[in-house]
Amino acid sequence: MNKKKLLEIVQSWNIEVKPEYRGFRCANCQKYMTKAWHIWFDDKEYKCEVHLCRRCFKEYEKN
Ligand SMILES: [Zn+2]
Repeated sequence: MNKKKLLEIVQSWNIEVKPEYRGFRCANCQKYMTKAWHIWFDDKEYKCEVHLCRRCFKEYEKN
């Protein structure tokens, strides 16, 4: 998927003024959560966000 298509998806969102809390899953252990550590990394062309639970984040910090 190219960046233009991704931008079109983002622009199609109906952004609410009030924050919305949605559940999602840890990228490593797949645990369901409503709060997460958000880790951004740059992979040359894209900035990528990874969500980790508290336990997996602690493991990530050790390395
Ligand atoms: Zn986890």
